[in-house]
Parts: sequence; C-alpha cells; structure tokens
Amino acid sequence: MKSTLNKYSPLRKLRNWLRGSWLTEGLVVAVILMIIFTLVALRIAQLEMHALSHPHQSTDRWKITNIALEVHNLDHLALSSVRNKNPETYEALAVRLEVLASLLMEEDSDKDSASSLLHSLPESKHILEKLRMQIDQWSYQLANTADPQQTALDISENVGLLVHGLRNAVLAVHIASSIEQDKIRVNQHDRLATLNWILAALLIGIAILVMKLILDRQAAKRMSKHLELVNKRLESRVERRTRQLAESKELLRFILDASPSEAALVGADTGEVMFINKTLLDRMGRHTPPDTLFLKTLLVDRAVGEQFLDELDLYGRVDNLEAQIMPDNPYWSSLSAKLVEIEGKLAHLLWAFDVSEHRKLMSLLEAQANTDAMTQLYNRRAFYRAGEKIIDSCKRYNHSCCLLMLDIDHFKHINDTYGHAAGDLAICMLSDILRTNLRDADIIGRMGGEEFAVLLPHTDMQQALDSAERLRLAVAQTTISSETETFGMTLSIGTAVFDPLTTETLELLLIKADKALYRAKQAGRNRVES
Ligand code: GH3
Ligand code: MG
Ligand code: MG
Repeated sequence: MKSTLNKYSPLRKLRNWLRGSWLTEGLVVAVILMIIFTLVALRIAQLEMHALSHPHQSTDRWKITNIALEVHNLDHLALSSVRNKNPETYEALAVRLEVLASLLMEEDSDKDSASSLLHSLPESKHILEKLRMQIDQWSYQLANTADPQQTALDISENVGLLVHGLRNAVLAVHIASSIEQDKIRVNQHDRLATLNWILAALLIGIAILVMKLILDRQAAKRMSKHLELVNKRLESRVERRTRQLAESKELLRFILDASPSEAALVGADTGEVMFINKTLLDRMGRHTPPDTLFLKTLLVDRAVGEQFLDELDLYGRVDNLEAQIMPDNPYWSSLSAKLVEIEGKLAHLLWAFDVSEHRKLMSLLEAQANTDAMTQLYNRRAFYRAGEKIIDSCKRYNHSCCLLMLDIDHFKHINDTYGHAAGDLAICMLSDILRTNLRDADIIGRMGGEEFAVLLPHTDMQQALDSAERLRLAVAQTTISSETETFGMTLSIGTAVFDPLTTETLELLLIKADKALYRAKQAGRNRVES
C-alpha cells in the first residue's frame, strides 16, 4: 500500500517527469529558442534606442532654430541698415542673406529624407518655402538695385511676419519631435517588458535544464556504480568459471590419461594434436605426442578410414565402429568419434578400445556353437545353415546336388560289446573317413549319435551313389582298435538328389535321404540306397 502511494505521489511524479530523456532535448530546444528571442528583442531595443536619438529630429530642431536665429539677426541688421544708411551694413545684409540662403538650401537638400520632421509639418514647410522665396528676392534686389536702402527697408518691414511664422515652426518642430520621442519611448518600454518576460522564461528554462543535468549526472553516477558492481560480479563469475573449466579440463585429462581406452583430440582439418592420452601413445610406441595425427591414417583399411571420416563429417559422430587400427601393429578396436568445437576450431574427439580378445572369444564361441565337439564336424544347426546356403545357390543357378544320410549299423551293439569309449572312437574314425574321402566343398555334419549327413554340391545321383559306395567300402575296410579290442563296423547310406526345378527344401531332401537310409537298413544294412 505504502509503495503504491509513493509511486503516485506528486514528488515521485515530478522526479519521474524530470528523468524523462525527452526533457533534456525539449529544454535545450526551448532555451535555444528563448536565446534567439532575446537576441531579436535586444536588436529591436537597440534599433529603438537608435531611433530615440534620432539624428534627423535633432537636425530639424537645430536647423529650424538656426534659421529662426538667422532671420532674427537679419531683422536686426535690416533695421540698423535702415537707420545708419551705411554701405557696410548693406554688405553685411547681403552676407546674412547668403548665409540664410545656404541654410535653407541645406534644408532643401535634406528634403528627400522621409524622416525629416519638417516635411511632416506642412505649415512649417510652407513658411520655409516662403522665406526661401523672400530671401532669393531680397538677395536679387540687393545685388541688382541701385537703391539698397529700399531693399533694407523692405526687409525690415516684412521680416517681422516671417519671424513670427518661424517661431511657430520652431515650436511645431519641437512639439512634433517630443511626441515622436515619447512614442518611441512607449514602444521601447513595451519591448523591454516583453524582453523581461522572455528573460524570465529563459532563466526558468535554464534552471530546469541545470536541475535536469544534475539529476542526469546523479543517475549516470549511480548507473556507473551499478555497472561497475555488475562488471565486478561478472568478472569474478568468469574467473570462477574459467577456474572450474580449467579444473574440469585437468580432470578430464587425468581421466582420459588413466583410461584403458585410447583417446585423442585432433584438429578436424589440420590434424593438429590437441590432446593424446598415454594409452594411445603406448599403442603408437611413442613417448611424446606427435605434432599431427590424421584419423584415417590410424585405420588399417584406407576405405574404412574414408567411410569413418565421411560419417563423422556428415552426422557429427560415429559410434562403435569395429575396425583394425595401427597399420604397423594392427589390432581390432571399437572406434567412436565426435565432431566438437574447441576454442572456435573444429576438432575430432576419438576414443577407441581394444576388442581383439573379445573378437577372438566371439569367434571361438561361434565355432563352438557350430562345431560338434567330438568330431570337429558341423553340428546339426551349422549343417542346416551351410546346407541351406548351398540349396539356395543351386536353386538360383539351376545346379544339382545330392544328400547322403549315413548311420553306423548296430552301433548299440558296439557300445554294448566294446564299451562307450570304443563307440566314441568309432564315431571319430567315421568322421575322419568322411573328411578324407570327400571334397572340401562338400558339407559334412554330425546330425546326432552315430548319424551323419553329407551335402554334395554340383553332384548328380550317379556321382553321389559312387561317393556313397566309396565311403561305405572305406568304413567296411577299416578296423578300429580300442585299448582292449579291435573291431570293425559297417555303414548304411541313403541318398537323395535335389531337383532345382521343384521348390524342394533341405528339410525335404533330408527326409528323402532318411527314407532311403531306412530302406538300406531294411534291406540288410552295409549298403547304399537311393
Ligand atoms: P541300427 O543298425 O538300426 O542303426 O542299430 P543301432 O544300434 O545303431 O541303433 P540306434 O541308431 O538306435 O542306436 C544308436 C545308439 O548310439 C544309441 C546310443 O546309446 C548310442 N549313442 C548315441 N550317441 C553316442 C555317442 O556319442 N557315443 C556312444 N558311444 N554312443 C552313442
Ligand atoms: Mg545306427
Ligand atoms: Mg542311429
């Protein structure tokens, strides 16, 4: 509630108004305008002052007074000329007339001046005109007549009228001049009053401007202090962050160095080594890091190397690519890499770990899963897998192939008579015979117990029968020597041919061969049936 009141209090409003940035500009413009007004007003006042001391007005007053004085003198001189009848006074009279004529001529030359007061007073003007004409006439008379006494008399008789008219003119000029000056003074007073107001407004404007400038300066100071504080905080945060970054970099280095995986950070284009861990250095057989390391040179297979880099550039990362690395001392490794930006530069972060042992174990396990442990021949599962591939190929290329099913005759009897070990020996003997008497391309599998299957690719029925017969004979002619006994064994074989034109499967072929084997057993054993 309190803060709301404060927010709308007049003082706060005034402060906010004074804080407005537009105010400074507005005030500056106002002050400039007021200064211009003041200068204009001062100029006008100066002109008025000039007018107040109007040179024409003074000249007019002086001139008319001078002329009146000169006419008065003329009057005196004419009177004394009339009384004395002295030729010298006639000369003096002529000089006075000349002086008057020149004064009037002077006035006449000024008549163009519009400001001349005499011209605004028609009566005065008229009297001067009259005087001029009279003077001209008297001057002419004095110069050309033989009787100057008459002219002096004429002057003394008539000049009195002119003196009276001139006195009025002098008065009129003085009054007109005073009125004119009063008018100018009133105007001057009005202008000065306006100037006062303008000056007062100027002072107020300047005062507000100064206040505004002080407030702005205070605000700027506060702002600068605040900025300084913010800057300091920022600096300390940056410092802390930099320290944290350096620590985490150091930690990362430590972890990567202690890692059993190989790790490196290299420039994406330059190959510049930014970091390389100890495990990778050991693998490379080096004590010090090389200046450059290009990832594709690490891979044994150049094509795989190209593919690795293409994928890295395209997707920004590669995960668990198994490939052989270190061309000088190759081993299988699972490679991962990431495209990163380090200090504005693109870099490849690579980590790899040795999977040679893992791969060995895997292939061993796979071999074990596919091999019959006693005979080292394919087990039933592996036989099916390899056999199906052959059948598919025969179907695709329209080749024939044959299957033999083989079973030791009266094997139970062998087991019972000579013991289980002797039975195992017999099984091993048979597998050896199969291996030695068949081609590498033929597939031999132990299907269970003393039962075997052989798939003969690219073989027709006759060839299959020949092979079966050869095997039957070989077994029949073999004697098996156990630790205690020597004995022989016979073999029954069923054969079946694969017809590529039908859609037969390995399964069906096995059934067919099994049926033939059954017939061989039925027919008395130690024989081949198709
Ligand atoms: P047939 O002439 O009809 O084939 O008579 P057979 O006695 O061979 O009969 P059968 O095929 O049914 O007998 C298989 C015997 O083989 C049964 C089983 O105890 C024995 N046997 C199965 N696997 C092994 C083995 O790995 N080692 C030994 N020693 N005997 C096995
Ligand atoms: Mg048997
Ligand atoms: Mg059997």
